[in-house]
Amino acid sequence: MPVERTDAEWREVLSPEEYHVLREAGTERPWTGELLEEHRVGTYKCRACGNVLFQSETKFDSHCGWPSFYAPERSDAVIARPDDSLGMRRTEVLCANCGSHLGHVFPDAPQTPTGDRYCMNSISLTFDEN
Ligand SMILES: [Zn+2]
Repeated sequence: MPVERTDAEWREVLSPEEYHVLREAGTERPWTGELLEEHRVGTYKCRACGNVLFQSETKFDSHCGWPSFYAPERSDAVIARPDDSLGMRRTEVLCANCGSHLGHVFPDAPQTPTGDRYCMNSISLTFDEN
């Protein structure tokens, strides 16, 4: 992992809400994220480390309450790993650069080119307009 920080260091650089989602795999409440309705052309990055994660052209309206993308910027920009918490079989998505929690990916978007829905927490991302 290129970026490694201790928990104390993460608490210094992240707000309590950011720390909870990014470092404790929390989930922001649906329909609350500031990037949910972001429709400008630009780049989405990891809020913890700045790693480029998604481009705006892969963002789509999934009606699930969280920003959704059908593919990451590069396949190695994120790490997917099994998550059996909450009694569900899901696939967690982590930043490949710093290991922070971003959200989950679900194969339930047949309307997209990949069929995947990367369901991301707004608070895990930053947006830069191109
Ligand atoms: Zn990161």
